[in-house]
Amino acid sequence: MRSVALPPETDALLVTRLHNIRYLTGFTGSNAMLLLLGGTRAVLYTDPRYTVQSKQQADCAIKIATGGLGKAALKDIRRRRIVKLGFEQDHLTYAQYESLKKELPLSAELVPLSGFIEKLRTVKDDAEIALIRASVDTNSKALANALKRLKPGISEADFAAEIDYQNRRLGAEAPAFDTIVAAGPRAALPHAHPGSTKIAPGMLLIDMGAFRDGYASDMTRMVHLGPATTKYKKAYKAVLEAQLAAIHAIRPGAKTSAVDKAARDVLKAHGLEKEFIHSTGHGLGLEIHEPPRIGRKDKTKLEAGMAITVEPGVYIEGWGGIRIEDTVLVTATGCEILTPTSKELREL
Ligand code: ZN
Ligand code: ZN
Repeated sequence: MRSVALPPETDALLVTRLHNIRYLTGFTGSNAMLLLLGGTRAVLYTDPRYTVQSKQQADCAIKIATGGLGKAALKDIRRRRIVKLGFEQDHLTYAQYESLKKELPLSAELVPLSGFIEKLRTVKDDAEIALIRASVDTNSKALANALKRLKPGISEADFAAEIDYQNRRLGAEAPAFDTIVAAGPRAALPHAHPGSTKIAPGMLLIDMGAFRDGYASDMTRMVHLGPATTKYKKAYKAVLEAQLAAIHAIRPGAKTSAVDKAARDVLKAHGLEKEFIHSTGHGLGLEIHEPPRIGRKDKTKLEAGMAITVEPGVYIEGWGGIRIEDTVLVTATGCEILTPTSKELREL
């Protein structure tokens, strides 16, 4: 159980978001609530399917509820005479809220909280960093293995399946998101769904990630089947330069908007700023998209221990797109690129 200092305006916090429960207790079941009482004191509520698993994974108090988790938690909240109960405003249903309001004594107060645990999750501890590193390494090995089977004529969907298969064989439990494989002009769609399009000589965008022991990795690489055109080479060089500039701007205390700007400025110098249509990156951990966002207007200050992606790209309708993405760890002195896969322009 992780130790958590409760927000001063609460005497307990009802956690209903499963990723946050996993972060705090290690419990990975699909049905749970957690009553956080401060420090390492907490009660985990789950159902009989998880009687054994909850004991193996969580070292806090555990209650196996047969008549609904909310009811069991309410009983404790009343018995413990909790007056100011924090709840996760983005992860409690209206029905759950209504029932809390109805069942709690009139003197009790419900305190809405937004992103409280998520904020703690942005800075990873050593154990989490080791898991992210392992996830990133697995993902890179999976790409190397899959590329051995890449040849013109196979479909995007086939190649995406090969990537997922390789990740799974290497120890990942699931893709971190729907693997993106986009050939030729389809690479102009930043979130293309791999389909029946046959991979032909030309550019290929691959965006892939794995969940390994719960932690995500995220990487985008381009490969070019056959010799690349001058236009492709120029655009690739510009995106890589933008990506390296953004990485260079990463250090504790730097604003995420400054990292975004570093990438954007380079693309502007190449006349490609209008083709960069998304933000530069995002945090990742137990989820593939976590705070902080690395965008134009985001003012979060980076801290050592944050794991983020850096993924500028350019997209040109009818031609294609180029994106290069690494998973990067903010360190005390700057940052470390975790992704080991080369970013040299690659022609197969
Ligand atoms: Zn990605
Ligand atoms: Zn990403």
